[in-house]
Amino acid sequence: MLDKHQGARLANLWDDGKAAGMTEPEKLLYRSNLLGSDKRITNYGGGNTSAKVMEKDPLTGEMVEVLWVKGSGGDVGTIKMDGFSTLYMDKLRALKGIYRGVEFEDEMVGYLPHCTFNLNPRAASIDTPLHAYVPKPHVDHMHPDAIIAIAASKNSRELTSKIFGVEIGWLPWKRPGYELGLWLEKFCQENPDARGVVLESHGLFTWGDTAKEAYETTIEIINRAIAWFETENTGPAFGGRSKPVLAAADRAAIAKKLMPVIRGLISAGESKVGHFDDSQAVLDFVTSTSLEPLAALGTSCPDHFLRTKIRPLVVDFDPAQPDVGNTLAGLPEAIATYRADYAAYYERCKRADSPAMRDPNAVVYLVPGVGMITFAKDKATARISAEFYVNAINVMRGASGVSTYVGLPEQEAFDIEYWLLEEAKLQRMPKPKSLAGRIALVTGGAGGIGKATANRLMQEGACVVLADIDETALEAAQTELSTRYGKDFVRSVNMNVTSEAAVESGFGDALLAFGGLDILVSNAGLATSAAVEDTTLALWNKNMDILATGYFLVSREAFRIFRNQKAGGNVVFVASKNGLAASPGASAYCTAKAAEIHLARCLALEGASAQIRVNVVNPDAVLRGSKIWTGEWKEQRAAAYKMDVDELEAHYRERSMLKLSVFPEDIAEAIYFLASDMSAKSTGNIVNVDAGNAQSFTR
Ligand SMILES: [Zn+2]
Repeated sequence: MLDKHQGARLANLWDDGKAAGMTEPEKLLYRSNLLGSDKRITNYGGGNTSAKVMEKDPLTGEMVEVLWVKGSGGDVGTIKMDGFSTLYMDKLRALKGIYRGVEFEDEMVGYLPHCTFNLNPRAASIDTPLHAYVPKPHVDHMHPDAIIAIAASKNSRELTSKIFGVEIGWLPWKRPGYELGLWLEKFCQENPDARGVVLESHGLFTWGDTAKEAYETTIEIINRAIAWFETENTGPAFGGRSKPVLAAADRAAIAKKLMPVIRGLISAGESKVGHFDDSQAVLDFVTSTSLEPLAALGTSCPDHFLRTKIRPLVVDFDPAQPDVGNTLAGLPEAIATYRADYAAYYERCKRADSPAMRDPNAVVYLVPGVGMITFAKDKATARISAEFYVNAINVMRGASGVSTYVGLPEQEAFDIEYWLLEEAKLQRMPKPKSLAGRIALVTGGAGGIGKATANRLMQEGACVVLADIDETALEAAQTELSTRYGKDFVRSVNMNVTSEAAVESGFGDALLAFGGLDILVSNAGLATSAAVEDTTLALWNKNMDILATGYFLVSREAFRIFRNQKAGGNVVFVASKNGLAASPGASAYCTAKAAEIHLARCLALEGASAQIRVNVVNPDAVLRGSKIWTGEWKEQRAAAYKMDVDELEAHYRERSMLKLSVFPEDIAEAIYFLASDMSAKSTGNIVNVDAGNAQSFTR
């Protein structure tokens, strides 16, 4: 039986009031966004929609038929008007005259730009002929789990006619392209009353005379498939449960242990970011008797395996007798075997002009009783790959419940994975940013220097975990950064750096969020000022706790992760000029800052053999945006220098050799340098960012 969410019918969300007064292209956009808003209708980026519209030709002034169709690389759920490409229908029809047959179908993609209407810069997708040649005004192509479950069943043709009669036809598997467009046209000519067609191992085409009719047909057909599964697929999911599900906290604990180790083993070519999913659909699959045999068959819909690789890696873990040490010890061999299998698949299937083999590591890791871990070049890709594998799980659940599930034939899968047109798309992708795939944790991440640092690292593509004790500031910083760079790139954890337990749990949350750690920026701090005879033991201890001990605790945790991950590591301490140069009336602060600097040197020595680098940035007098510089410390400093608080910034500027103020962004720049490969050969160093101060020259 499909689970509750899966079983619920799709609602008809079409609103005549909203659609009234819309132009045809606007109605197409409206319909597309409605369809894409539900992952049961189509997966992220999957499927496309079109409308054939009469428009005035800008050159001749005559009315011409124009195909509006989702362009290359878009997502129907989030598409905007500029996401559609527009093409002259008469030119698209004329392409038939130069088509040389199926073995030359890829060359037809090169002709599509010649059919562009109104200089629209949106590139036409490979699926354009599929929409152009269906002789209907409005066409939807979706990848609904319930339909693919039928399409990926051994007897999918028989099931299609059993469920839909003559209303919905069936076409055998064919890679999307020009030829499939001609097949669809022929089908429509031979079956003028059909309302759509199921494509084997792929998805659904439906159509209508109006935008509303097309939308309602799509919803109705998917709902009929969902209803059919509800009555027919009533046995236990995947043949029943054979392994226990661990409790949520235990699942998370296992994932935190596995993720950095897997990440270290697969990140040699490029740094990867992880995602953990233990939703019910996943748990049903990873505890079932059919886990191994179904996982080995691979995914069906091309969209699914392009994101997830042809098949997942099932991690050797027994939830009935959990022994994660054993599992960890077995991972290097399991991953090496997966890579060797992938290389063998490449060798078996490659053609003379195939692109070179890509990263042979698995994307999806299934852990019995625990859930699913995915790794990709960035968080969004890892998350979306997980979503796609959940689609694949839903498909396998449906198909194996009513028939025998079949994956795509290996050679067909290879030809899509290594399709020259796909390769061209990959080659057009922009070069990755300097910290793409890197994961950083910044303590004091909600404050001036911390937030500026997170911002700078994220600008370079890093994922950042903000750690701070100030909940309100933390929330504001996360909102600000996720608005700027996207939700996938930033997480936050409440962390008191003086608490061993809080530090451990904060780093654990970071591991669960992104799968590992590359960069620690230890920055959380405070500053106090008092003559030594007035320095209470409590004040002394406070400085030592937050600065010396806090830096020790977060570094120790980072080192533990780095050593498990076996991929090097990078620590940057934000210390202070006062760690090198004595300052009047601040002995507790200065001494604790000196301890940080010496700790960094000790750790640089200890970490070097594991490629762990540790460096220090020494700021001075960064007033703007700093929480340290609000309140007491500012007043105390002003009093020490016998001046007004408003005069402090000018005072520090004039005191510097370069006569410049130092801002959080200046410190962030130095931290970025030390955290990036630009400084790959530096460790145990100190970079002063203080506009010049002879007292703190290193020697
Ligand atoms: Zn498709």
